[in-house]
Amino acid sequence: MSDWWKGRAHDQCTHARINASNYPGTRQLCCECDQPTERCEDDSIFVGDTGPLCADCGHVLEQQIEDMRADDRREREAEAMALYYQNHPHG
Ligand SMILES: [Zn+2]
Repeated sequence: MSDWWKGRAHDQCTHARINASNYPGTRQLCCECDQPTERCEDDSIFVGDTGPLCADCGHVLEQQIEDMRADDRREREAEAMALYYQNHPHG
């Protein structure tokens, strides 16, 4: 009965072993959400310089970059239109 704490210590060891067997090898964690990426170094997900990422964060980041590019394009188009109308005033 005075050994009650051993059970707790054992639990922690077991927990570590379960972690190790669930994430064998180098456990790669997503740099965005700190969850296991379920990838290894060979097929890790990078978006630009950001990574490694899990599949979810990879998708989110890709989408954000696409949106940014789309915004950028719209801005450039608007600038080009403004310039066009400056150079070609109506009337
Ligand atoms: Zn993630």
